[in-house]
Amino acid sequence: MKIIKSIPLMQSISNKAHKPVGLVPTMGSIHEGHIKLINASKKQNTTTIVTLFVNPAQFAENEDFHTYPRNFQKDKKLLSDLGVDILFAPETSQMYPSGFQTSVINDRLSSVLEGEKRPGHFRGVSTIVSKLLNITKPNNAYFGQKDFQQLLIINKLNNDLNHGVKIVSIPTVREKDGLALSSRNIHLNQSERKTANKIYASLKHAESLYLNGEVNSDSIIYAIQTYLLKESLIKIEYISIRDKFTFEDVSTVMPGSIILIAVSIGKTRLIDNLII
Ligand code: AMP
Repeated sequence: MKIIKSIPLMQSISNKAHKPVGLVPTMGSIHEGHIKLINASKKQNTTTIVTLFVNPAQFAENEDFHTYPRNFQKDKKLLSDLGVDILFAPETSQMYPSGFQTSVINDRLSSVLEGEKRPGHFRGVSTIVSKLLNITKPNNAYFGQKDFQQLLIINKLNNDLNHGVKIVSIPTVREKDGLALSSRNIHLNQSERKTANKIYASLKHAESLYLNGEVNSDSIIYAIQTYLLKESLIKIEYISIRDKFTFEDVSTVMPGSIILIAVSIGKTRLIDNLII
């Protein structure tokens, strides 16, 4: 596995890479969720590039940029063992040199849910993903459905800015008890971890209500709220039911609706979703 830190070098390698090229952007602390994206890329491409960059621009001042889990040596070994061809891991000063002043902003999708709770987050995500697409020039780029709003925004920027990449979405990988894998899960202490599976359990509870005939969004949201309020460690940030294509709120749940949840447990913020 080649490890590249310089943008010009990465660009010249990308220009010569055997196509098709698959890109898997990550912030590291590689887990089975990332591995599923990487394996999909390896299956569908001749060259797989994984990027590892904890992007300061997508963390607000009060967020966990400094405590975000980092483990470069372990990640490097794991990615090499997985058969990744190229690891692109630039320094922040490469990605945001002094004088950097251009951002990619999606005004609409970025204004709700994660965007509302985390001002500036999607501006940081859209800008870095746009840069990574330009630097690595992939044919296919892989993103997880766990970050569903991010996936929609990336699909939109890919179309709107004519990157011409095929965006491939990969279903959420979960622990045995249903908790969606996330690099942040290691911050949960034992009791927090025990409670964290209730997030997915509440989504499955909502799904079973729907399957038993309940289609009113407000009623389903209320049922999820009631379910989660029993867990004293869980603080609900939002529960929302939207159309998975338009991302508009829906009043009637139907196939193609998506339930999205954000909570905090102690100091850890977790998101999850379930597509009906
Ligand atoms: P991150 O390193 O958290 O920025 O995630 C990098 C990519 O992995 C994103 O496209 C995420 O949506 C995806 N990802 C993170 N967790 C999971 C998971 N549990 N299942 C599937 N994909 C995931």
